[in-house]
Amino acid sequence: MSLNTALLKQQVFVDGAWLDADSGETLDVHNPATGEKIGTIPFCGRPETARAIAAAEAALPAWRALTAEARAGYMHALCDAIMEDIDDLAVLLTTEMGKPVAEAKGEIALGVKYIRFFAEEGKRIYGDTIPSPWADRRILVTKEPVGVVGSITPWNFPNSMIARKLGAALAAGCTMVMKPAEFTPYSALIYGIMAEKANIPAGVVNIVTGDAPAIGEEMCENPVLRKITFTGSTRVGKLLAGNAGRNMKKISMELGGNAPFIVFDDADLDRAVEGAIASKFRNSGQTCVCANRLYVHAGVYDAFAEKLKTAMQAQLKVGNGLEGSTTQGPLINAAAVDKVEDHVKDALAKGGELISGGHRPDGAGTFFEPTLITGATPDMKVAHEETFGPLAALFKFETEEEAIQLANDTEYGLATYFYTQDLGRSFRVMEKLQYGLVGVNEGVITTEVAPFGGFKDSGIGNEGSKYGLDDYLNVKYSCIGGLGL
Ligand code: NAP
Repeated sequence: MSLNTALLKQQVFVDGAWLDADSGETLDVHNPATGEKIGTIPFCGRPETARAIAAAEAALPAWRALTAEARAGYMHALCDAIMEDIDDLAVLLTTEMGKPVAEAKGEIALGVKYIRFFAEEGKRIYGDTIPSPWADRRILVTKEPVGVVGSITPWNFPNSMIARKLGAALAAGCTMVMKPAEFTPYSALIYGIMAEKANIPAGVVNIVTGDAPAIGEEMCENPVLRKITFTGSTRVGKLLAGNAGRNMKKISMELGGNAPFIVFDDADLDRAVEGAIASKFRNSGQTCVCANRLYVHAGVYDAFAEKLKTAMQAQLKVGNGLEGSTTQGPLINAAAVDKVEDHVKDALAKGGELISGGHRPDGAGTFFEPTLITGATPDMKVAHEETFGPLAALFKFETEEEAIQLANDTEYGLATYFYTQDLGRSFRVMEKLQYGLVGVNEGVITTEVAPFGGFKDSGIGNEGSKYGLDDYLNVKYSCIGGLGL
């Protein structure tokens, strides 16, 4: 599998043109599996971002004036262009991000599903007529695009995190300025290539790379931009939300998690193991919805640990994501490996027992072995911090109340999972868990047709589904009087 360099755009995309940074400065981008340099990207700052926002402003009136059907036409053409090159785009994504190429292809296909869903959902942006308290007036409620949107996205899903935002924004009639993560810019810049192929008018989609704090400040402070949509860490999310709030901009925040995964004593253990493997180790543990704390009832603790160890050792293979048999690619960088190693050492120092993995393999690249630790306790780092890596830590509990209390004992509230075959318990536990996403007997639940969003410090707003479109719309009430009725 070789890289198609025609898809490796090393410039930013503003107002339909490919440009360098004003200063000519660049950042290097590396392959985490080999450490090799892939290419460079422009190191842009506030002036380039301001020009991208101006281009999006200029493109807005014509884009919002199109019918939903016409916008859907452009969006489907964008998706067709992506699907035409999906194999090459998957190789590009794996080269810069590391995940196995089959997962990369799945991510891109899911991104396309989001865009196609929103293209059609845009045709269903309904308003209301409200019974009027005045005999001679009528009340109309309509929805309008919020305007120019700024998006900032992370490296762990460098294609689909953008698709969820871009699809909703374009369908709503908004134009966009996007800033991808510095580690994975090329999977974002392909949206410029594909927008050109789909003949999307210049200025509707703009992409800048470079100085993240400067670009974020321009987005938050530029009066033209009306909404910021961010996916990333809670730390940066709070910073952006504060600045956007001071400038009265709408926000959508998809932030960090610390997902509990609960196995009750009446669970189907094989199904729970299958769910744990998918939820914990997909993307080498680098998803915001990854199981981080596995709570297992004392009655099935040893059996579950044994089955999970067997499944991990049989199914998980560490390696370069471009090699067919790999299920576990590298972590994004050396700091990510350091964090997993720190969580492992901390857990072992506090009484945890290492059952499987636990080390960095020899050789190049930022890899870490899939790791299983039993005897986890609430004082360990893994209990409080998102590890964002391939560490499964098993905690023991005795009662349903205790499991719920432990699961909710965090400032995060993104995703949670639990396994039980008792219908009453399913509803009881589901209703008490303070999380935006709940998997009951399921370890992977993301779909474009359902809302995706966190409670508490995990964010504000939703992506996907009709709720995800609402976040890009303003509600307008018009009172029509003087009707002479
Ligand atoms: P991050 O450090 O917050 O970075 C995310 C994005 O923010 C990147 O584009 C980054 O740019 C940019 N950024 C960093 N500092 C900034 C600043 N001061 N102003 C404006 N932008 C700034 O997060 P990450 O480590 O890349 O991503 C992992 C986190 O994302 C995890 O916590 C994970 O749970 C969360 N996540 C959440 C969801 C969700 O849907 N809830 C989905 C995926 C990931 P540079 O790369 O250029 O620094």
